[in-house]
Amino acid sequence: MSERLVLAAKERDDADPLADRRAGFVLDDVVYLDGNSLGALPAAVPGRVEDVVRRQWGELRIRSWDESGWWTAPERIGDRIAPLVGAAAGQIVVGDSTSVNVFKALVGAVRLVDDGRDEILVDATTFPTDGYIAGSAARLTGRTLRPVTPDEVPAALSERTAAVLLNHVDYRTGRLHDLPSLTAAVRAAGAVAVWDLCHSAGALPVGLDEHGVDLAVGCTYKYLNGGPGSPAYLYVRQGLQDRFDSPLPGWNSHTEPFGMREEYAPVAGARRGRVGTPDILSMLALEAALDVWDGVRVEDVREKSLALTDFFLECVAAYVPAGRVESLTPVRHEERGSQVALRCADAAEVMDRLVGRGVVGDFRSPDVLRFGFTPLYVGFADVERAARLLAEELR
Ligand SMILES: *Cc1c(COP(=O)(O)O)cnc(C)c1O
Repeated sequence: MSERLVLAAKERDDADPLADRRAGFVLDDVVYLDGNSLGALPAAVPGRVEDVVRRQWGELRIRSWDESGWWTAPERIGDRIAPLVGAAAGQIVVGDSTSVNVFKALVGAVRLVDDGRDEILVDATTFPTDGYIAGSAARLTGRTLRPVTPDEVPAALSERTAAVLLNHVDYRTGRLHDLPSLTAAVRAAGAVAVWDLCHSAGALPVGLDEHGVDLAVGCTYKYLNGGPGSPAYLYVRQGLQDRFDSPLPGWNSHTEPFGMREEYAPVAGARRGRVGTPDILSMLALEAALDVWDGVRVEDVREKSLALTDFFLECVAAYVPAGRVESLTPVRHEERGSQVALRCADAAEVMDRLVGRGVVGDFRSPDVLRFGFTPLYVGFADVERAARLLAEELR
């Protein structure tokens, strides 16, 4: 143990403006560094879910679609996520999984450009589901799919490019890609970018409106702590909404859902991204989970996130014998998300032992130890302890 690092951790925890947020979560002594896979449980959720189940469903039954605001929940909760990703109200709808929303957004993107554009670019390093869905979207729309790394995108763009599917933060390495410049390059080429925000929303400012993003999707169970399988969201820029042609035009996005019309007529606004009946229990658990963000500035979250990952790397350098692990985490802050990825041949066994000692990160095949830092509930003393126990397990 290093006195200096323990002291540094204490000083930073004492000065942390977000330190009080931890009390809003159900946590124990475990150092939980897996919030980039499943966020911890916000304390407000169990009571709200109990009310939704017992009173709204159990007593009000069908009346809750109106009286408990069930019908409008997808847009209402979208508006609560909006400020966290830099979007004005009326552009985000919550529902379905990220995978399904990638499909809607990507096919919708291709339908926004003319038929002559016959290629879809996909992030070659993407989370697998995005790649699978992009392959199917390409087949359905008669386009060719070309995997390229985000760095290669500017050079790969041409008058053939219809759409580009990109991850904001690489799930494996934690590398943050340059959303403003890539979005501008895609737009300048006359194509449409779709951003997957799964590993950035709730961890850093995204600036969707500011950077002119057209379409984006993201999940809510990672840094937004919505709970296992909580519904994802779809962002369609206001100026595009009238032209957005969803490949899944369900009755929930009809102008008159209860008119039971034979002909489909897409509603205006964010609701156009809806498909079928929303998953109310998960959705209202998410709504309660978002209370922890009240009064939080995403800029402060980002500042703490970078301080946490810097401090973890500093502790790892101090405690772990040189050469035992290789960091895949970008050194430059502009390229770093909110996680640290360390590579070592025996990563799977090391992580198993570490979890057994109360430090929970995760393992990504074939050799990556992944540690996610959720600034709302991870502190600097947690970070020092995690690095110290990791070093012991690596010895
Ligand atoms: C977590 C994650 C997903 C998950 O998709 P689901 O449909 O929720 O299973 C998709 N894309 C990325 C980049 C992710 O990190």
